[in-house]
Amino acid sequence: MVIRTTRRHFLTGAATAVALSPKLSLGQARLRIVVIGGGFGGATCARALRRADPQFEVKLVEPNPTFTACPFSNAVIAGLRGMAAQRFGYDAIRAAGIAVAQDQATAVDPQARRVSLRGGSALDYDRLILAPGIAIRWDALPGYDETAAAVMPHAWLAGDQTLLLRRQLDAMPDGGTVVISAPANPFRCPPGPYERASLIAHYLTKAKPRSKLILLDAKDSFSKQRLFQNAWQQLYPNLIEWVSLSNGGKVISVDAKTRTLVTDFATYKADVANIIPPQRAAEIAQLAGVADRTGWCPIDPVTFESRLQPNIHVIGDAAIAGAMPKSAFAANAQAKVCADAVAALLHGETPAPPKLINTCYSLVAPDYGISIAGVYHPAGGQLVDVEGAGGVSPLDAPADFRALEAAYAEAWFRTITAETFG
Ligand SMILES: Cc1cc2nc3c(=O)[nH]c(=O)nc-3n(C[C@H](O)[C@H](O)[C@H](O)COP(=O)(O)OP(=O)(O)OC[C@H]3O[C@@H](n4cnc5c(N)ncnc54)[C@H](O)[C@@H]3O)c2cc1C
Repeated sequence: MVIRTTRRHFLTGAATAVALSPKLSLGQARLRIVVIGGGFGGATCARALRRADPQFEVKLVEPNPTFTACPFSNAVIAGLRGMAAQRFGYDAIRAAGIAVAQDQATAVDPQARRVSLRGGSALDYDRLILAPGIAIRWDALPGYDETAAAVMPHAWLAGDQTLLLRRQLDAMPDGGTVVISAPANPFRCPPGPYERASLIAHYLTKAKPRSKLILLDAKDSFSKQRLFQNAWQQLYPNLIEWVSLSNGGKVISVDAKTRTLVTDFATYKADVANIIPPQRAAEIAQLAGVADRTGWCPIDPVTFESRLQPNIHVIGDAAIAGAMPKSAFAANAQAKVCADAVAALLHGETPAPPKLINTCYSLVAPDYGISIAGVYHPAGGQLVDVEGAGGVSPLDAPADFRALEAAYAEAWFRTITAETFG
């Protein structure tokens, strides 16, 4: 027999292959961990938990049979990539010993430690990991509801919306106007709207050179701003017009029938309108009582345990992760830290304070990549930047450097999706 005394130390005895955590004795049920959401955070966390202790019973709840990734979906919108390259199944996760319930979590009872599923069954847990991503705040922008999104797509949840925006760009005549509206912080993927503007500009330059792109922004500054703006001047002169908050960029209402966007200063008529609306943590986080009045979920920066409900951990876009942006890279990093912390807690140990890394690559053109990197640690109850660590791509890099960063971006996507789903 193998008896686990701590996470790292084993006592070997008779030859049965049973490993026991200190809380377990023979005949006692295995520790149950339920993970809600099979995206970058949840799927990574489920796998990391199995690796941390193969005796954990790990269940992953995800309604979709395949996951559709947002990173690189801007390249799909620009016609540079097929949608099939964005889709990933759950076979490898099942093969890793994780029970995948293709179902939707509809309620969480933190007292009973029970998750209810749409299909009618329920899952009991010792620890629950919530990684459900974002929801669109349909009440935040007058005129923008699910019906309007069928005309003015957000394409901020990858899938049909991504393809709809692609088709609209394809159908737009040369000389048309594309209008993108970007929300105030915080939102999923801070550099995403600017990567999208860049790649759409690339498409317009090639296919519809008399067209124009207006980017209406609810902010006065944005991620990798100087890098983006320098590249726009160089690659797409006079094509992209960025309208900052101070210059009247905040969209206050839309009208899908006329495809118009209204700001405090002006009304913009679009041939193609991409509305990236305000967001919040996905519905199940609200139902579980782990989201606060901001709509996002406060967490402990060492364990990612909810500050509002015990035994529930929140990772990825849904969490308030301090200085860490809402990215797939960050969700993956948080998932591993959270899995280690949960394993430690279940083994009666104290989790060590983590260091987390994030890197966000953006494509300005297919062979032109830029990046921003950060390192974070817990301080004062938050995740904060490690001073002096991280940075952005140089402003004055030569073309081969930009091409290399574009290649790194692709390599990152291949690696993270292989690690998560492969
Ligand atoms: C256009 C665009 C480009 C991006 N580019 C990049 C990039 O280059 N690099 C980068 O790092 N990040 C990028 N991102 C951000 C990245 O997509 C997100 O940060 C990442 O997906 C967050 O991971 P997550 O696990 O929190 O959520 P998700 O990956 O969205 O996963 C959430 C999962 O939870 C499931 N779920 C939700 N509710 C329930 C429920 N009730 N029951 C069961 N399951 C549920 C959903 O179906 C989904 O599968 C981009 C985003 C966009 C929109």
